[in-house]
Amino acid sequence: MTTDKDIEQQVLTTIDKWVEKELRPIAREFDQADQYPTELVEQMKALGLFGATIDEQYGGLGLSASTYAKIVSRICEVWMAPSGIFNSHLIMASCVQRAGTEEQKTRFLPRFATGELRGGIGLTEPDAGSDLQSIRMVARKAGDDYVINGTKTWISNGINGNCLAVLTKTDPNADPRHRGMSLFLCEKGEGFTVGKKLKKLGYRSIDSAELIFDDFHVSANNLIGGEEGLGFAQVAGGLELGRINIAARGAGMAKGATDMALAYAMERKTFGKPIAEHQAIQLKLAEMSTRAAAAALLVEQAAIKYDQKERCDLEAGQAKFFASESAVQNSLDAMRVFGGYSYSPEYEIERFYRDAPLLCIGEGTNEIQRMIIAKQMVSRAR
Ligand SMILES: Cc1cc2nc3c(=O)[nH]c(=O)nc-3n(C[C@H](O)[C@H](O)[C@H](O)COP(=O)(O)OP(=O)(O)OC[C@H]3O[C@@H](n4cnc5c(N)ncnc54)[C@H](O)[C@@H]3O)c2cc1C
Repeated sequence: MTTDKDIEQQVLTTIDKWVEKELRPIAREFDQADQYPTELVEQMKALGLFGATIDEQYGGLGLSASTYAKIVSRICEVWMAPSGIFNSHLIMASCVQRAGTEEQKTRFLPRFATGELRGGIGLTEPDAGSDLQSIRMVARKAGDDYVINGTKTWISNGINGNCLAVLTKTDPNADPRHRGMSLFLCEKGEGFTVGKKLKKLGYRSIDSAELIFDDFHVSANNLIGGEEGLGFAQVAGGLELGRINIAARGAGMAKGATDMALAYAMERKTFGKPIAEHQAIQLKLAEMSTRAAAAALLVEQAAIKYDQKERCDLEAGQAKFFASESAVQNSLDAMRVFGGYSYSPEYEIERFYRDAPLLCIGEGTNEIQRMIIAKQMVSRAR
């Protein structure tokens, strides 16, 4: 009999082979050129990655968060950017799967699963990131439609994607503010345009964009859940999976940086022996591998709780916070191990050093994450 563990192993073996054959060989060149990996996207469609966590009844693979997190980590051990192409997309899908009407699930999820409709989540605005309830984008009811006006920024997949879950204000005067927030599925069309592609320190090859909504008409049937005022809670629900995914990226990057540092330290010789035999380097390697292992365990703990449908904001927050900081620290430590060569684009480690800090910002900054963890600690202790 095939068990869930067998299926997970099969999936991970397929991913590992794909990463080695297709992803690793192009990572440096595509990152340096900030080139969108179109062929990889086609391969991701064939692998079913755009439907990884979408239920099988809607055409997805129906994988658990735990297996999904391991896929994300394996990819990010080598190159983080491609994971963003399906990760943000699956947060959008998760909002529909958890909060959409049956009609919306049937209409959107199968097209999300194949990658025919691809995109992400549009929350951040030029004047509002952490304080999401202060967004200004407005959706006003007009007959059977809503008309959306405003600007979103830093939106992953904003250029190459064709659909976005967009957080708006349907009642800008609501008190409390979250009661006036609603989430819409917006397919690109007249009035929904790309303002500009944003330049970035790292996380290249995936598009980050400013998006402009100018009298964009969206059908009222695309209001997720069919009721106004639920958008903030829907986004918060989707972000639990989002945080596990960022944590999984961090755990993968922390391990990838450690593996690279170990391999280099065993080859590079100074004073007549490999630097891996110098105690100062050994201390770094030991700390790096411990961080990477601990990060992976925290990700697994959060993912298991998520799969058991238990509240996991504390666990997902801890995993996201620790794994992202581990990715930053390990990429910095690996730079030290590589010495002067760390500064060269001929080696992969400089990309890790540029990519990792994003993980401390996305899906709720690590400052906000610690506030969430502490609030949950207090509430659970009551
Ligand atoms: C490459 C990239 C991709 C992204 N992709 C997306 C995407 O796909 N969709 C999307 O919607 N957004 C996306 N973002 C935006 C990201 O989610 C926001 O940048 C993030 O939420 C932080 O918001 P902010 O930049 O406005 O910072 P701010 O909210 O202005 O925060 C600035 C600083 O103040 C701190 N801070 C804020 N409030 C508090 C507080 N109450 N207490 C203590 N400290 C506080 C923050 O932690 C941070 O250190 C992306 C960003 C980047 C860089």
